[in-house]
Amino acid sequence: MSWDFETDPAFQKKLDWADQFMTDEVEPLDFVVDYAWNIHHPVSRKVVPRLQKIVRDEGLWAAHLGPHLGGTGLGQLNLALLNEVIGRSPHGPIVFGSQAPDSGNAEILARYGTETQKQRYLEPLLAAESVSAFSMTEPAGGSDPTQFTTKAVRDGSGWVLTGEKWFTSHANYADFLIVLAVTDPDAAPHERMSTFVLPVDTPGVEIVRNVGTFGHSSLQGSHSYIRYNAVRLPGDALLGDRGRGFEVAQTRLGGGRIHHAMRTVAQVKRAFDLMCERALSRETKGGLLADKQLVQAMIAESWVQWQQFRLLVLRTAWRIDKYNDYSKVRSDIAAVKIVMPKVLHDVASRALQIHGSLGVSVEMPFGGMIIESYVNGLADGPTEVHQLNLARQLLKGYSGTDGLFPTGHLPARRQAALEKFADVLAEVEQEQALKEQRAHAPA
Ligand SMILES: Cc1cc2nc3c(=O)[nH]c(=O)nc-3n(C[C@H](O)[C@H](O)[C@H](O)COP(=O)(O)OP(=O)(O)OC[C@H]3O[C@@H](n4cnc5c(N)ncnc54)[C@H](O)[C@@H]3O)c2cc1C
Repeated sequence: MSWDFETDPAFQKKLDWADQFMTDEVEPLDFVVDYAWNIHHPVSRKVVPRLQKIVRDEGLWAAHLGPHLGGTGLGQLNLALLNEVIGRSPHGPIVFGSQAPDSGNAEILARYGTETQKQRYLEPLLAAESVSAFSMTEPAGGSDPTQFTTKAVRDGSGWVLTGEKWFTSHANYADFLIVLAVTDPDAAPHERMSTFVLPVDTPGVEIVRNVGTFGHSSLQGSHSYIRYNAVRLPGDALLGDRGRGFEVAQTRLGGGRIHHAMRTVAQVKRAFDLMCERALSRETKGGLLADKQLVQAMIAESWVQWQQFRLLVLRTAWRIDKYNDYSKVRSDIAAVKIVMPKVLHDVASRALQIHGSLGVSVEMPFGGMIIESYVNGLADGPTEVHQLNLARQLLKGYSGTDGLFPTGHLPARRQAALEKFADVLAEVEQEQALKEQRAHAPA
């Protein structure tokens, strides 16, 4: 029997441990450290390494990576279940060593990095001693990477990097940057860019400003607008082969998208739990909110959306484990990416509504969740682009008809059925006629 929706009891124990650990040790950090990625915050420095050690000892560290890279090799399905627990707090992934964008950046360094690059960048990243950022989107547009203009020009044995990047998350906390730049402007559109890795303090790297999203202070943004002012890079700053920037980016984004969806399941669950608790706590018009049918409809609809999304995420994780090749699960990941913003938006909005004025206040997390749902529909590519990519992939499995009417046209299908069962129909008709004859025959 290959369909099985049960969690292995031994792993369930680990999940229960993680759940309690999150409540007792990790979630409180969200209230004393402004931004989880700021590992240099004085409180983080004192507390986070101790918690990371506990996670390591528990065998749950960097669960997205195989053991050869210092991870646990749990596989994506178990990671999905773990992310459902740790994704409810920004500090969760930091303490468990699987935070974006470092997790995706570690994957590409492991896959495309030279030994020297791995030593210099990957090892401290895996040891949680450094922070990384991925610099691809440009101010003139992010959805269409063929429009990017930041360029790296050959200069002796090195490169000179010039251009602007936008929304490079956490560059203000990062030790190094992974940058996509055009190296071969005359090549085919998807072979023009290459990937570079460089320390953030390389001369010429200018952080113009750190942009905040709604809900964060405008002074404390963490999505950097970066200018690369003729930055001189050595030849060994190239990550992967020249002209393979798109491939590197896709490798990174495949994992990044599904991991983000796993954590979003945790957010949806949190909104749902709060919604139910409130419905059972608040009274109006002589009864609990939970007794009102319109509220019950909101709860039922939310649960259905949450479970549909969750099953799609788990199935996709299972397929990644099965094929171990992101290119074979591109459609699945696109589907997850498309549904994720809507589910978080809808469930968080209903939870907000059920909480009334408290729901819109900054004393509850729903406003942040709703903004996060819009972030989910943009970061790692906007929903529309994933919709058209998914549709294109799906259409490859079909072909058009030659005839005027579609294959589902009922008259043609009826005619075919009549022909298929012509003998039986004739037999039945004959038997019917005989019966009638007998019924009307004189006694
Ligand atoms: C919180 C956050 C963090 C991010 N972190 C990073 C990061 O670390 N590194 C990085 O490089 N980038 C990052 N990004 C940028 C992200 O990848 C881009 O926002 C995204 O690719 C869209 O690009 P854009 O914002 O320029 O929107 P545009 O390209 O201007 O698109 C705007 C809108 O146009 C519509 N649209 C676009 N293309 C199509 C189409 N083909 N068909 C129909 N409609 C379309 C969509 O509605 C889209 O939202 C981050 C973004 C956010 C919000």
